[in-house]
Amino acid sequence: MSQIAMKVSWSFFIIFFILSIFDVKFALLGLICMVLPLYQSFRGRGKVHCTGYCPRGSFLHNFFSKLSMRKTAPAFVRTSLFKNMVLLFMMGFFTVSIYFAGGDYVKSAMVVLRMVIVSTVVASLMGLIFKPRTWCTVCPMGHLSGAIARYKKRE
Ligand code: SF4
Repeated sequence: MSQIAMKVSWSFFIIFFILSIFDVKFALLGLICMVLPLYQSFRGRGKVHCTGYCPRGSFLHNFFSKLSMRKTAPAFVRTSLFKNMVLLFMMGFFTVSIYFAGGDYVKSAMVVLRMVIVSTVVASLMGLIFKPRTWCTVCPMGHLSGAIARYKKRE
């Protein structure tokens, strides 16, 4: 089931961009993809979101499998320090931007859309140069849900 989902869930990613072009408020749907991996981890389902149906993971896998140069990513990309730095930077930037949006729907949606666009450009470049899903090594939501999954396991 999850293999089928991983083959098709990239379409939600494309639909997300199309809807956001028509009305930027649709970009708020991107929050679902931020919350779902954490929710699944908290429920004790580990990284099922990442391995089973993440639209971005599916997009990277399906679009870059053939295009990717598959070079080896630098070792620092896999270090906890680097992942934590990416997490802090992106979440910090996101939180401050949402704060300054002041509860305005359109401004908040713009913040989400900007975050998705920037991370997609970076993820695509990484997928093109390194392995298709190299972004998943540093993705803040994947990193956080992995940390929660490890914590739940220890419990
Ligand atoms: S690491 Fe991030 S982009 Fe990759 S599958 Fe998980 S949530 Fe999606």
